[in-house]
Amino acid sequence: MPEELFYITTPIYYVNALPHSGHAYTTIVADTAARYHRLAGRRVYFLTGTDEHGDKIARAAAAAGETPQAYADRISGAFRTTWERMGLGFDQFIRTTEARHTQVVQAILQTIYEAGDIYHSEYGGLYCVGCERFYTDKEAVEGKCPDHQTPLEFVKEQNYFFRMSKYQDWLVRHIQEHPDFIRPERYKNEALAFLREPLEDLCISRPRARLAWGIPLPFDDRYVTYVWFDALINYVSALGYPDGELFQTFWPVAQHLIAKDILKPHGIYWPTMLKAAGIEPYQHLNVHGYWLMDEAKMSKSRGRVLSPLELGEKYGLEALRYFLLREMAFGLDANFSEEALVTRLNADLANNLGNLLQRTLAMVERFLGGEIPPVTIQEHRVTEADASLVLAFQELQEEVAREMAGFAFHRALEAIWQRLDKVNQYIDSQKPWELAKKEPAAVSRALGNTCEALRLIGLHLYPFMPATAEKIWARLGIGDRLSDARLSQSGEWGKGAARKAVRGEALFPRVEFAPAEGSLSVAAAPAGAGEPVLAGGEIGIEEFRRLDLRVAEILTAKAVRGSKKLVHLTVSLGGEERSVVAGILLDYSPETLVGKQIVVVANLQPTKLMGVESRGMLLAAPGADGKLVLVSPERPAAVGSKVK
Ligand SMILES: [Zn+2]
Repeated sequence: MPEELFYITTPIYYVNALPHSGHAYTTIVADTAARYHRLAGRRVYFLTGTDEHGDKIARAAAAAGETPQAYADRISGAFRTTWERMGLGFDQFIRTTEARHTQVVQAILQTIYEAGDIYHSEYGGLYCVGCERFYTDKEAVEGKCPDHQTPLEFVKEQNYFFRMSKYQDWLVRHIQEHPDFIRPERYKNEALAFLREPLEDLCISRPRARLAWGIPLPFDDRYVTYVWFDALINYVSALGYPDGELFQTFWPVAQHLIAKDILKPHGIYWPTMLKAAGIEPYQHLNVHGYWLMDEAKMSKSRGRVLSPLELGEKYGLEALRYFLLREMAFGLDANFSEEALVTRLNADLANNLGNLLQRTLAMVERFLGGEIPPVTIQEHRVTEADASLVLAFQELQEEVAREMAGFAFHRALEAIWQRLDKVNQYIDSQKPWELAKKEPAAVSRALGNTCEALRLIGLHLYPFMPATAEKIWARLGIGDRLSDARLSQSGEWGKGAARKAVRGEALFPRVEFAPAEGSLSVAAAPAGAGEPVLAGGEIGIEEFRRLDLRVAEILTAKAVRGSKKLVHLTVSLGGEERSVVAGILLDYSPETLVGKQIVVVANLQPTKLMGVESRGMLLAAPGADGKLVLVSPERPAAVGSKVK
């Protein structure tokens, strides 16, 4: 396979329903893969689109009082707009109602028909209207559709059939000879298990009298094409099969990306269709698992809809992307929960990534006047810690490449986060705040290395969180756009030049999550920059003294509008009044709070929670009943006095 090309497709989404999170995940994965391979210097083509024919569409349109075309236009438009608003950078959005697609479907049908692999026959069997397909007696569950649980009808009709059985032996051999044709391996095994039974021929038509909303068979216009025989062909029609430059260029490296529910059409029907049409099979079928919510598949038909945009609006699209790509081991099912998303956002993004950038740039500001030194001039004096840091980053590029080649997004992110830990350890071992006092030249070396490490973290994060990566580079004073960056030019240690750091806000403010049974503590802004407060382990008295803990008195308290958990407090610190937002609404009714003395962290960066400014964090701990209990002076103390 030519290394310099990459062609990735999502399934074309069926327009019987609006986009949901399952669709969003697949499309985000494709976008991430496309961005990665572009960064790696490949010519990339990313295809998505919508599947618009079939009985379900005709009926949904009728129910909505629209023509099928108007209905398809509307829902297809919603998919396209959703992906665009999420910043998913597809190269083409194909629709199966486009004339260029219809022409290719008909040409391929004609070719296979003329080769004798499509024949006319009568078929009688159990049919599900919802699935638009016949079920064998073995597949039916007590005469009902296994998916819809509705009674199957016995339908007898003349139809056209594709001689799929003829290609069974070829397909088994092909899968065995190309072990990563279908991956991960569990899905290859699933396909092979299916192929142990005799493969039946595939009914590929529907009488027009029963279903008019489809592509007519070119050799018999009393029939339209069965939806799969129409939909799968988008992967080649979009490229301008047979003569288009895109087809010639990209089809030899085609990789499909699907959820496991459509393994059979993609792993069995599609390769045999390609073989019969005289087209080379695709290179890889990459199959992912389901997101589980309360043990049920996240899909419209089961009524568990979670709008990806809603989640993206609530927590940010970058956090959503990170969560989806980090939490699911590609190929396996994963549990989706809003709480797990918030946990990752606070721990991995706000605390780890965001805080590392913030503390580094604060030190650059404090000790180097905001000037980031070039790494190259530091070479004359390299410590063991420097060497270990550089080595870790030299190995990163190859490690990420290996994981991305196998669609192991979560492991690529793990590799990046291991480097974040490495940089945190490096700062803690170098202690720039001590070097500043006794060895100023060494500060430049230590912070130069730290900024170089962050530059490479931004570069490698780009495919996963493009906007965050761009922000990291901008904060590091790098003028180049990551969308134009290439690993071959920017991926090596030492490519960072001298430049001026840019002040800015925290990348990821911590967020509040209100669980049903509260145990999460109070929300706070990221810890102050420059201090090793996140180093873990023991801290010195110096570090403790950086915390400004004060006795405060609550003057007013009211619930934050629209929040189940937040209370807006005004507190007195003696000479000063502060607005503090705290997640204690489940634990205290606001009116009982007024007049209480509490302890607050007074020197946290201000943050906003649900639009309300918070300047400080109160201290609380879970009580015996699981509710939060405020930390309070044992008897009245002087308001505003420092807690020591
Ligand atoms: Zn069904």
